[in-house]
Amino acid sequence: MVELKGIVASPGIVMGKVYRFDNKISIPNVDISSDQVALEMERLGKAVDKASRELSELKDHNYRKLGKEERKVIDSHSMMINDPELHDSIHMQLKEKKKNVEWVLLQVIDSISTKLKESDDEYLRERTSDLLDVAQRILKNLMNEEIPSLADINEEVILVAHSLLPSDVLEMSPKVMAFATDMGGITSHIAILAKSFELPAVLGLSKISESAVTGDFMILDGIKGLVIINPDNETRNLYKEVRIQWAAREKELLRTLGLPNITTDGEKFLLNANIEVPEEAASALAHGADNIGLFRSEFLFIHPKIYPSENEQYQAYSSVLKKMKNRFVIIRTLDLGGDKIAKGARSGFEENPILGWRAVRYYLSRPEIFKTQMRALFRASVHGNLKIMFPMISGLAELENILGLTEEVKQDLRKQKVRFDENIPIGIMIEVPSAAITADDLAKKVDFFSIGTNDLIQYTIAVDRGNERVAYLYEQFHPAIIGLIKKVIDSAKKHNIDIEMCGEMAGHPQAVCLLLGMGLRHFSMSSLRIPQVKQVLRSLSLEELQKMAKQALKLTRAKDVEQYITEWMETKIEFKTY
Ligand code: PEP
Ligand code: MG
Repeated sequence: MVELKGIVASPGIVMGKVYRFDNKISIPNVDISSDQVALEMERLGKAVDKASRELSELKDHNYRKLGKEERKVIDSHSMMINDPELHDSIHMQLKEKKKNVEWVLLQVIDSISTKLKESDDEYLRERTSDLLDVAQRILKNLMNEEIPSLADINEEVILVAHSLLPSDVLEMSPKVMAFATDMGGITSHIAILAKSFELPAVLGLSKISESAVTGDFMILDGIKGLVIINPDNETRNLYKEVRIQWAAREKELLRTLGLPNITTDGEKFLLNANIEVPEEAASALAHGADNIGLFRSEFLFIHPKIYPSENEQYQAYSSVLKKMKNRFVIIRTLDLGGDKIAKGARSGFEENPILGWRAVRYYLSRPEIFKTQMRALFRASVHGNLKIMFPMISGLAELENILGLTEEVKQDLRKQKVRFDENIPIGIMIEVPSAAITADDLAKKVDFFSIGTNDLIQYTIAVDRGNERVAYLYEQFHPAIIGLIKKVIDSAKKHNIDIEMCGEMAGHPQAVCLLLGMGLRHFSMSSLRIPQVKQVLRSLSLEELQKMAKQALKLTRAKDVEQYITEWMETKIEFKTY
C-alpha cells in the first residue's frame, strides 16, 4: 500500500483500476553502418506512407465534421510529410551521422523548428507546431508505437499521468472516473475542467506516474487530496463507508435548491456558475445557479485544435443564452495563452507564457480573431441576456484599444444591418494587480468588474498557479490579496458599477463569508460549489458577517485570517472543512 498526498482539484471519492497514460515516446540512439543507410531510408518511406494514409483517413472519417480550415491543416501536414527537402536532409544526415533514422529525424526536425521559431514571419512561426505534430506521427509509425487516445478508454478507470493538457481532459472518454497527476496546481485549467466535468481529481502528486501502473487498484480521495495505491482491506472498507457518507452529504446539500439566496437578516446575494463548455449550462441550473457569471470561451478554441468559425461560435453562444432564458450569461472573450494553449491554433516558444502573449494582448496583434468572436457574440445577443467581458486587462490604454475594436465591430454590423442588442453590458476581469490598483480609472469605462482571483493571486504574490512546488505560497487570504479586493469593491461602488468575483475564491466557504462581510454580493463559481456556499450564507446574518470581516481584516498573516474565520464559523454553524 502506497499513499501519496497532493492537491484537491475536484472533489469526490473514487475507487477503481488505474490506467497509466504515457504520452512520451522515448527515441533510441543506435549507431548504424553505411550499408544500413538504405535500409533506414526504406523504413522511413514506409512510416511516411502509413502517415499519409492516416491523414487521408482522418479527413474522410473524422467523427467531428471537418470544415475548410481543418481540411487545410490536414493537407498541409500531408505536404510536410512528403516534402522532398525533408527526405533529402534526413538522407544526408543518415550518411553523415550514421545513427538510426528516428534519432536523425528528430535532429532534423529540431533544427528546422528552431529556424521556424526564430523567423520574423508569423505564418512560418506558427508552422512549428504542425511540424512537431507531423514528426510525432512519423516517429510513432517508425517505432510501431501507438500513442493511446484518451477517447478510446472503454472500461472504468482512474487515469494516472505525469501531466495533462486541457485538450486531454476535453477528449477523455466518459469511462474515466477520476484522474491523478504529478504536476498541476489548484487553479490550473486542468483543475477547473475537472470540476466542470464533475471528475474527481488530485494533482501535484509528484510521483504518482512512477508509483502506479495500469491494473493497480487505487483509492482517489478528492476530499483530503490523497491517493492510496493497492490499499489493504481495512482501508478499502473504511473508504467504502466514507464514500457513502460523502454521497449522502452531497444529496443533503442539494436540498437547498429552490430556496432564496438570502442571509438570515434578509440580505440578498447571487450565486452564479462558471462554465467552460456550452453543455455545462444544464449542470449549472441543476446545482441552483442564478446566472452564468463566467463562460470561459477559450475552451471552444482548445478542443478542435483549430479556431471555430464565426457561425460555430454563434451557435455555441446562442445555445447557452437560450438555455439560460432571461438569466444573464457573462461570456468572456478568448483567454488563450498561459496554461491554456490551443494546440495548433497558436504556437511559438515563449520564455514566460504566463507573463506573455495572453488574452487581450493576443487580440491586438490578431484583431481578426477578436473581431470574429465579437461578431458572433453580438449576433447571439438577440437570443438572451448577454454580457461581454474582457480578460487580463492591465490598464486604461489597453482597455481603450479593445473598446475601440469593439466599436468597429458594432459599426460594421450596423452597416450590414445585422440585428444585435445595442445595450450589452461590457465588463472586464480584474486579475492583474495593475488593474486592481487603477480600478478607479477603469470603472469609468465599463459596466462591471469581475475579480479573477486565480490570476490576481498568481500575479500579486508572484506564484505560478499551476506549480505544485510553490503551492504553499498561493494564499487567497494573504493581506495583499484581501487589500486589493477591498480596493476593487470600493472603486466599483464609488462608480456605481456591478461587481462580482469569478475566481475559485468565490466558491470557498470561508472566503465567501469574509467577502460578503466586505461588501461583495455576486459570486461565480464551479457549479459543484454552489450548494455548499448557499447553505453556509443562508445560515448567517449580514450583521455578524460584517463584524467578523472587520476583525479578520486586522490580521496580518493569511493562515491566521483563515483560521480565525474557520473557528468563527464553527461557533455559528455546523461547518466541516475538508
Ligand atoms: C481567474 O483568473 O480568476 C479567472 C476566473 O480566470 P481563469 O481561471 O480562466 O484564468
Ligand atoms: Mg484568469
